[in-house]
Amino acid sequence: MEITLLGTGSPLPDPRRGGPATLIRAGGQTILVDAGRAVVMRLAGAGTLPVLLNAVLITHLHSDHITDLNDVITSHWVMTGQETPLVVYGPPGTQTVVDGILMMLGPDISYRLAHHTDTLTYKPKVVVTEVQPGATFAIGNVQVKVARTHHQPVEPTVAFRLEHDGKSVVLGGDGIPCDTLDEICAGADAYVQTVIREDLVKLINNKRFLDILDYHSTVEQAAQTATKAGVKKLILTHYVPSMQPGQEDEWRAFAAKYFNGEIVLGDDLTTTTI
Ligand SMILES: [Zn+2]
Ligand SMILES: [Zn+2]
Repeated sequence: MEITLLGTGSPLPDPRRGGPATLIRAGGQTILVDAGRAVVMRLAGAGTLPVLLNAVLITHLHSDHITDLNDVITSHWVMTGQETPLVVYGPPGTQTVVDGILMMLGPDISYRLAHHTDTLTYKPKVVVTEVQPGATFAIGNVQVKVARTHHQPVEPTVAFRLEHDGKSVVLGGDGIPCDTLDEICAGADAYVQTVIREDLVKLINNKRFLDILDYHSTVEQAAQTATKAGVKKLILTHYVPSMQPGQEDEWRAFAAKYFNGEIVLGDDLTTTTI
């Protein structure tokens, strides 16, 4: 199983980092988790395309995690040779968001249908399955479990555990430690967590920025969850504030205080195999 951090950024614009998005390749399946800023560019950087995705998983409906889902939908549609659904799983509310995206794309869809009358005879088709905590489903031979996470007042938010051939990875999304996150992480080979640096956030005397502290895991909290759940590899992403070149070891050290296993972090397209 291969895990690629497509976008390691956050809502704060950073020319070097795309928004939250992670690619999982396992058992011949190509699965995108979240679709933040620049996701289609980073998919290309990882050697794939929206049309090659077997499924898109959405952890929650915060804009930074879905802002380029419209690009995934359009790029998937225009590169299909026949009507092929884009398969999307997400928490309740995902269908409403996708319906809104398709409405926003309405003019573009009509232009392309009018222009390519012989080769593009169908509209984009997005098949959304809204998943509840506790749900299980399969993408090909990859088994997926869903758990509730704690990112309030954002509700609902979920984590996904993907398993194939005895290997497992948890995509924790945004949120602070909680029992259901501990449970879904138990014994996982890898755990991908979005993180903030509390010490750096506190240096910036801005109320709106300080507000994020109460609903995001710090680097230390992610490490504590990994240790508590017996995770083998901790993968950090969605760095707030943006991790600057040369700061990687400093960020890693914050996690290493609470976690003895391998810690992976880095720039967009950092890839690790389990
Ligand atoms: Zn986020
Ligand atoms: Zn969020």
